[in-house]
Amino acid sequence: MSATNADPHIHDVNPIVLILLGPPGAGKGTQARILEEKFGLVQLSTGDLLRSAVAAGTEAGKQAKSVMEAGGLVSDDIVISVLSDRIAQPDCSKGVILDGFPRTTVQAGELDNVLDNSKLKINAAISLEVDDSEMVTRISGRFTCGTCGEGYHDVYKRPKVDGVCDKCGGTHMKRREDDNPETVAERLKAYHAQTAPLITYYQGKEILKTVNAMSDINNISNALSNIVNTLRTDVKKDIGMKQEV
Ligand SMILES: [Zn+2]
Repeated sequence: MSATNADPHIHDVNPIVLILLGPPGAGKGTQARILEEKFGLVQLSTGDLLRSAVAAGTEAGKQAKSVMEAGGLVSDDIVISVLSDRIAQPDCSKGVILDGFPRTTVQAGELDNVLDNSKLKINAAISLEVDDSEMVTRISGRFTCGTCGEGYHDVYKRPKVDGVCDKCGGTHMKRREDDNPETVAERLKAYHAQTAPLITYYQGKEILKTVNAMSDINNISNALSNIVNTLRTDVKKDIGMKQEV
């Protein structure tokens, strides 16, 4: 048994563990950054986690390194072990936002077990809800000026003169190839197929929260902040009750 489980006792209050679910284009990255700034939470993506564990040379990091060097996929066990090591670090004392993990209900169950051993739990799984056809319009309408990088949109922000950048007068407009309507629709479909079981899983545990991600950035971040504020109050109450016993 390696010493890889998070020890929440190094933190005064158990860190809040959030899972943020949302399809590409729903603004997940932006919202995670806002939560980081506002609440001191730390966003943990699987790739970053593995890279930093390898760099730090932890036990799990060494295991991950040898698997990755052999071109293999890092097992759930290793990912979860790296994750719980990371949550025990001082900078995660306020809480973490998991990004990209778990991806399956099997991983979700394993993660719950490991967190439970460390007296931690997922406090909320927050799903950024989108309207698929609206998302297709939003994403596939995007283009940028190839000269200065100014962003435009077919519907929401057309240049004053078609094909000419308002800002720099450039005439070379660029579109990302994978932003075409068919590809965006495919991406959304794949997201829903992968995420639906997780949504059901966290619904069953009564920790699923949904936020309308079609609203503007401030409304979304206010909704997320309300959720985090409620969770923090609950965590404090938990601790208060334990102390009274
Ligand atoms: Zn321009």
